[in-house]
Amino acid sequence: MRPYLLIDIDGVLIPFPDADGTTPATHARHEVVPTGRSADEPVTIWLNPAHGPALMDLIRTGLLTPVWCTSWRQDATTLIGPLLGLPPLPHVDLPRPDITTSHPNGYLWKRDHVDAWLGDAPAVWIDDDFTSLDHEWSVERVARGLPTLLIQPNPREGVQPEHFAEVSAWAREVSTLRASESSPLREAEAA
Ligand SMILES: [Mg+2]
Repeated sequence: MRPYLLIDIDGVLIPFPDADGTTPATHARHEVVPTGRSADEPVTIWLNPAHGPALMDLIRTGLLTPVWCTSWRQDATTLIGPLLGLPPLPHVDLPRPDITTSHPNGYLWKRDHVDAWLGDAPAVWIDDDFTSLDHEWSVERVARGLPTLLIQPNPREGVQPEHFAEVSAWAREVSTLRASESSPLREAEAA
């Protein structure tokens, strides 16, 4: 099974503005109208046009199954992806919990849902909002033999080229590992 590439948006593709409201020079401003909002109340966002090609490079390796994992939900596919030139990608259908913090139980609110959604699938997950408990969850998955990698950009900078490189290297490593596990030699050794 190909690992999933779970992609968050806020703090990852859309970095948080500085205290004075400035956004990175690398990012272009756009106005979008999220689902449920009236057309005369658009939301201003900022995206780095280099992130579309960077994500496409990862997708084209064929080593990962990309999935949005964001509170933008379906709007990630219909509003954000097209602004980066991305094809329609599926999204994790996250619940809408009544919470005032992103860590209501000390860990990322998305995690229980993602954990159930993934089952035993390998995954690399890019999100700016993991806590130490999420990193422990990742370590426990790896210990169970489920390749897992959490990538945590600084939310004021968003995802960086080195993060994409890390994802790419990890995907190749997992792929190589799986190939060796299923090789005839290995099966012969096991027999
Ligand atoms: Mg985020």
